[in-house]
Amino acid sequence: MSPRYRAVKGTRDLLPSESERFAAVESAAREVFRSYGYGEIRTPSFESTELFARSVGEATDIVHKEMYTFLDRKGRSLTLRPENTAGVVRALIERGIQEIPRPIRLWYQGPQFRYEQPQAGRYREFRQIGAELIGVSSPAGDAELIGMLFGFLGRLGFAGLQARINCVPTGPAREAFSAALRDFLRPHGMRLGPDDQRRFEQNPLRLFDSKDPDVQSLLQGAPRTLDFLENRSRDHHEELKRLLSSRGVTFHEDASLVRGLDYYTLTVFEVSSSALGAQDALLGGGRYDDLFSELGGPEVPAVGFAIGEDRLVAALGADPRPVRPVVFVVPDSSLDFSYALAIANQIRTLLPDVVVESDFTGRGISKGIAKAAQILKDPSQYAFRIDGVRVVPLGSRERESDTVTMKDLATGSQETFPRKALAEYLGAARKQ
Ligand code: AMP
Repeated sequence: MSPRYRAVKGTRDLLPSESERFAAVESAAREVFRSYGYGEIRTPSFESTELFARSVGEATDIVHKEMYTFLDRKGRSLTLRPENTAGVVRALIERGIQEIPRPIRLWYQGPQFRYEQPQAGRYREFRQIGAELIGVSSPAGDAELIGMLFGFLGRLGFAGLQARINCVPTGPAREAFSAALRDFLRPHGMRLGPDDQRRFEQNPLRLFDSKDPDVQSLLQGAPRTLDFLENRSRDHHEELKRLLSSRGVTFHEDASLVRGLDYYTLTVFEVSSSALGAQDALLGGGRYDDLFSELGGPEVPAVGFAIGEDRLVAALGADPRPVRPVVFVVPDSSLDFSYALAIANQIRTLLPDVVVESDFTGRGISKGIAKAAQILKDPSQYAFRIDGVRVVPLGSRERESDTVTMKDLATGSQETFPRKALAEYLGAARKQ
């Protein structure tokens, strides 16, 4: 039967074997980021359209053609968030950032929405994990944040990843760089497609995001961001490189890296993974010293990153799901349900790490055991990595004699003992 409803193009369901990988990655993020003093912020999934237009930038692909924008019933223009930094900045300005002790360290995780052409690793609803360090202008802030990011990636088992970093000019230096880019490209004007023509006019830095291979090869010989830096910016960049080297973060400088959002100033960085194929960008970030004032707040320097969580999970070498012993409690019929509830609870209380599942279908012991055996056949589909499966069949014999039988599915060995010896038995089983 073909389903009447399907997940909307570019969206997907995460079933337990998958969603537990996301949960494991998120709890690793929470632990690592917490050790640097980061607390989690959760902002709304939609904001006023204007917020993204002002922050992400009118000339970006995101604002120009990728936003899910709609009018609410009162005719207000709202947009499903395409990224989370704008929401974080809005929230802090709204709370009166002047009054909040700085630096402020925040991390987030959650779905983002972009109307992009779906393909492997690219979705219309995708998840990001990000962090923002707010109120620090020193390159030591950039270095701490990038170091934390690599600490997190290392914790997940990634080794050998390299950051590409660049420094984009700000203020008058950016204007000069834009003018130089236009001058460089003008003789080639005929070769620009409509998207690139728009970039050329509105913000030529965005041309580095061009998907047109001719434009990309043309840009190989273009003026370089690094040649336009003012002294202060250059010092920032040089100091960051020194700090990253001494922190042991591997990186290389990439003068064509500008990142697809307009709010970046000075530092920008990206990490790719060859495990991902065509959509190989795993994460990106940078400094955004002008964003608070751009959105109506005071001048507050800040730096942050956003990791594509879907891509992170896809690129993981090691399985991050927690390892759990599993016990299936299988009552023979509905007469045994009450006894089964009690035994299952007792096991959970004695061994909080164990997953205890009860089969209340009433289909009988042998079918219940067959279902338990199925997870051993394809453990990749189970929510957890399995550390042994045991079955507790419960019928009138166990109920009436107040006993428990426990069978190890891998070895087939089985033992029956008085219920009051459960603690002792489980203690012994654990030590084996
Ligand atoms: P950005 O917010 O554009 O800097 O993107 C940061 C990261 O989010 C990227 O490096 C990707 O890993 C991820 N990302 C961005 N867009 C998508 C998408 N449409 N589907 C999946 N991941 C995405």
